[in-house]
Amino acid sequence: MSAKRLEPFKQDIYRCIHCKACKFSYSGSPEKSGPGEYKGVLYEGMLNSCPSGIEFGWEGYWNSGRMWIARGLLDGTLKPSEAVRDVLMPCITCGNCSTQCENWIDTVGIIEAMRATLVDAGIPLLDRHALIKQFATDLNNPYGRDKDKRTDWAKNDPDLKTQIGKEADEAYFIGCTAAYNQTNIASATTRILKSLGINFAIREDEVCCGSPFFRIGEVDFAKGLMKKNLEVFSKYKRVIFSCAGCYRTLTLDYKKHTGKPVPFETIHAMEIVANAIKSGKIKIKAHPDLKGKTFTYHDPCHTGRHMFLEEKQELMRGSKNMFLDSRKVKQIHELFDIPRVILNAIAKANGAKFVELYRNMEESFCCGAGGGVRAQYPDFSLKTSSLRLDEAEAVGAEIVTTECPFCWRNLYDANEKYQHPLKVYGILEMLDKFNLVEIQANPVPPPEYAEKAKPKK
Ligand code: SF4
Ligand code: SF4
Repeated sequence: MSAKRLEPFKQDIYRCIHCKACKFSYSGSPEKSGPGEYKGVLYEGMLNSCPSGIEFGWEGYWNSGRMWIARGLLDGTLKPSEAVRDVLMPCITCGNCSTQCENWIDTVGIIEAMRATLVDAGIPLLDRHALIKQFATDLNNPYGRDKDKRTDWAKNDPDLKTQIGKEADEAYFIGCTAAYNQTNIASATTRILKSLGINFAIREDEVCCGSPFFRIGEVDFAKGLMKKNLEVFSKYKRVIFSCAGCYRTLTLDYKKHTGKPVPFETIHAMEIVANAIKSGKIKIKAHPDLKGKTFTYHDPCHTGRHMFLEEKQELMRGSKNMFLDSRKVKQIHELFDIPRVILNAIAKANGAKFVELYRNMEESFCCGAGGGVRAQYPDFSLKTSSLRLDEAEAVGAEIVTTECPFCWRNLYDANEKYQHPLKVYGILEMLDKFNLVEIQANPVPPPEYAEKAKPKK
């Protein structure tokens, strides 16, 4: 049985010493202090990192066990089977295990390659995964929605419909979740980009980015979607995203599967807003509903940890001695500042308080939606999101923000189902809903960014 998809990971798979450090967040700083005990969980030192291990318990559901499975599939001592599939599929591909591993093992890459190995071997997809594939085949989206209604949220708004098919150098990649379910996020993003004077197009012929299919091992199918999107978007100079998953997929997966970066710049909309705050182009206003509130931020795995890990892996590939230049690591870590620039500005303008979750940035605990898990295991998925909301309550937050429509959906649904007393907003949604953006005619960088904005001598 061929395991050709696992061959490129052979060194990584054999480097795993099954130490199980990847079971815990903050493996490197067990002395970390936190908010203490909340709902039976002690937020101090190290916490479990892996939602699938927490839920299912048995070693095969933790990453350390999955690395044994990878070795078995690679050397042929374990045959692809439905039983193996059933153990591999509850992984959310969140990558927290990768962050924790001091051995630099690309665990998500290996897990996705194992899933692809099962597909290659003819192991059938789980029922709901087969259904979303059928939907995407017929309708270009995994939700079973009408492909001709992808941009209805814009068509039905006189202020937004002008962007559809507009002549422009830039495009906004909506993504299926924002196009059909979280249209609040698609509308907010479009309105804010317009207010910033960005000339961009919305494309009716955009299709699913392929993320769910890359994750569940349907690589060839996902590559078909990738090809269609590249035909549509290659003419643009820059493509803007509001979905963490689409952003990661076009930036990292398309590069991996074509062997070269996409022929346009990719950027998440929140980075555009953060830059506008830093340059003084926009000022954040106050709103009475936010006054004195405490809010927090859930880092989506795809815009945060996955991008960070990829850049670190890139550094490692260029390292001659397996050591990393800590100054360069610090530089790439700055990507986690992007949402925090906006959140700190909102807090400052509103006399509100921005607090970090206990597990944040590259150590962030997943919302439970990704990796095909929300589609196939909705109960486990929402239970994981509820754990994340417990963590938000533990740090005293009243509002949870994020910047991904898929994270938003899961957090929102878990908030309802498990009766958390929280409000859930996308950052751009929050800016739009509370009308917080004020464009400045004469931009002056705020004092905290003024030094960096000065031209270098
Ligand atoms: S992946 Fe890394 S941290 Fe996890 S068991 Fe293997 S060597 Fe240890
Ligand atoms: S990627 Fe996330 S869910 Fe999957 S094994 Fe690693 S920590 Fe667990």
